[in-house]
Amino acid sequence: MRAAIIGGGAAGLFAACALARAGLQVTIYEKQDRVGRKLLATGNGRCNLTNLNAAPGHYRGDPRFVGAALRVLPPKGAMERFAELGVLCVSDDEGRVYPASNQAAGVLDALRLRAVELGCEIITGFQVAKLFRRGRSLRICSEGGRTAAADFAVLATGGLAAPKLGGCGDGYVLLEALGHKIAPRLPAIAPVRTDPAAVRGLKGIRMRGVVELLCGREKLRREVGEILFGDGTVSGIAAMQLARPLNLALRENKRCVLRLNFLPGEGPEMIDRLAELLPERMMEDFLSGLTPKRLGQALVKAAGVGKLTKKASELSAEERRAIYDRLTGWTLPASGTLGFDQAQVTCGGAELSGFDPDTLESKLTPNLFAVGEVLDVDGDCGGYNLHWAWASAELAAREILRRAIK
Ligand SMILES: Cc1cc2nc3c(=O)[nH]c(=O)nc-3n(C[C@H](O)[C@H](O)[C@H](O)COP(=O)(O)OP(=O)(O)OC[C@H]3O[C@@H](n4cnc5c(N)ncnc54)[C@H](O)[C@@H]3O)c2cc1C
Repeated sequence: MRAAIIGGGAAGLFAACALARAGLQVTIYEKQDRVGRKLLATGNGRCNLTNLNAAPGHYRGDPRFVGAALRVLPPKGAMERFAELGVLCVSDDEGRVYPASNQAAGVLDALRLRAVELGCEIITGFQVAKLFRRGRSLRICSEGGRTAAADFAVLATGGLAAPKLGGCGDGYVLLEALGHKIAPRLPAIAPVRTDPAAVRGLKGIRMRGVVELLCGREKLRREVGEILFGDGTVSGIAAMQLARPLNLALRENKRCVLRLNFLPGEGPEMIDRLAELLPERMMEDFLSGLTPKRLGQALVKAAGVGKLTKKASELSAEERRAIYDRLTGWTLPASGTLGFDQAQVTCGGAELSGFDPDTLESKLTPNLFAVGEVLDVDGDCGGYNLHWAWASAELAAREILRRAIK
């Protein structure tokens, strides 16, 4: 039995290994000149490949689909699978799992080399442009007119994020041509745009804290973690997680802001105490023991206490309170996010109603399966998206094997 994998990214390579291991004749069709380019960039080159806390609550999309995939491949199962590929995994305090080597390249090599050892054929530079059923087989045609046939096809073309690493909309076009519906797509994990003047001079500054997204009268989401400032942007894991709800709220024309708290748990008396301890300290250095210096200066400026040469002893009670309020509730406009070039994941995609939740088979084209980010499922930052890639690939592969090996 022949299986065609369309897209040699995370999900495609994982599915290829699972199918070839059981003896199927597998061909991977990849449009780029090499497989797994996006995988190399994951986790800042370290590849955060799963999360011990992976559960449907960490995903957006029909929980039946995510639940079925997590049942066949929970996080420990993924770690065992990587151990079988020779990749030892380690986890951090937040359950994020990385290869012990801290090298995404090692994860890609493990999948790619295993696929080759199992006899998978990898055809690069093959951009699948047409996919259709003829008789009992599925036909795959490239842009350049090359054709191939298979008994089963796994569509693993990913989403729109990071076009330089292969992100594109091809999978949606292929599925639409077969009658599938595609939900609108937006960047899901991406830097948030703010007022450039408010964060001027802060590029590269990072600090842990709490970030809340407030839209209209609602608090839409609260995240704890790293906050990183850029050119007119706020990113870091905590802020990037807000991209999805922010983009959805802005589509409804809601006015949104970020509220940043750099010292959760501290009361206003801490600034009074600091002013008493350091009466001669000028505003430019006043918060240097609490935050990175430039951030401290931005916060006292935002508090409107006057010149940076002002001494702590000259602060009024209202001014001390204003500084505290900025430290624990700095409000910045959230006008959108950077686009797909800077995003990690796509919100939206192939509507799940067109697929069987227990197998990921298309309801319209028998023996065609869709896995990974091309489907309308997206997870939190922290290893959840790669876990979906592996687990959805495993779910589809099990069904293909059940049918192929009777
Ligand atoms: C910078 C960055 C960092 C990230 N870090 C993490 C992380 O640490 N942890 C985590 O969980 N997630 C992370 N993600 C998200 C994660 O990488 C994706 O969710 C995951 O790769 C999706 O897997 P996939 O197989 O569905 O798609 P992809 O890995 O994108 O693979 C799709 C493949 O299909 C190919 N293709 C597309 N169209 C065609 C066509 N027509 N014909 C042939 N081939 C085609 C593409 O070239 C690509 O190789 C990160 C994403 C980015 C951009």
